[in-house]
Amino acid sequence: MDANDAAWKILQDGGEALDAVEQGVRVSEADPNVDSVGYGGLPDRDGHVTLDACIMDEQSRAGSVACLEHIMHPISVARKVMELTPHVMLVGEGALRFAEEHGFTRENLLTEKARNAWEEWKKMSGYTPHVDKNNHDTIGMIARDANGNFSGACTTSGLAWKIHGRVGDSPIIGAGLFVDNSVGAACATGKGEAVIRIAGSAIIVELMRAGKTPQEACEEAVERIVHRQRDYKDFQVGFIAMNTKGEVGGFSIHKGFQYALRSQDRNELIDARFRVS
Ligand code: ASP
Repeated sequence: MDANDAAWKILQDGGEALDAVEQGVRVSEADPNVDSVGYGGLPDRDGHVTLDACIMDEQSRAGSVACLEHIMHPISVARKVMELTPHVMLVGEGALRFAEEHGFTRENLLTEKARNAWEEWKKMSGYTPHVDKNNHDTIGMIARDANGNFSGACTTSGLAWKIHGRVGDSPIIGAGLFVDNSVGAACATGKGEAVIRIAGSAIIVELMRAGKTPQEACEEAVERIVHRQRDYKDFQVGFIAMNTKGEVGGFSIHKGFQYALRSQDRNELIDARFRVS
């Protein structure tokens, strides 16, 4: 909701969707109490906080960073990749060097709380990453501005205790996020591997292009995961989407996925419908 407040302020002042989504998700990136995004994010199994983020605008421009360490606002680095380079995606050391060249400063992103959680995990896990319904929760945001233009942003510290170097869906255009200004936008949260395997957000946009409502499109994407991925009971995935009529939808595999909606007349946290009870 705080992220939406920041984004909404920009939209209300007549600002662009691109600025709204960037500023919106920066709120979560800077919040040490959000343990799945940015500062305060839970580390990988080696104790490194590695961040993934991407951004996409109404002109189908896109920027992305993956496995980026030490930088509090990966979404803003992703935007710089989009605006200042001929590329879409930078990873690891190269992404860090690029960020520093553009004025971002190195910070320690591993909070005391996250370090303690990691120390606890190491005692129990025997160094084996495990994906369950609780160790992830990315922030993805899509916005449409007064000109009817869409943008989207997605940012995460990824799965807690992942293997160092693992990249999920969140920085991958078409998986964690997709925008097509003539149709709408979609984004994902949950187990990235499951989302990548169905090109989740791109599929939802294509389903909307083919005439499905955002709600139907999100449901169909979850259905594809459930049909093809046998272990779906063990992990969570949630999608949200919006179309050019301003209709929205959200759906997840399991109970518990919530999304925040802000519009002229609505400001609410919605419990998404889900596939498996
Ligand atoms: N989608 C993210 C990933 O797989 C995890 C999350 O939603 O927190 O990295």
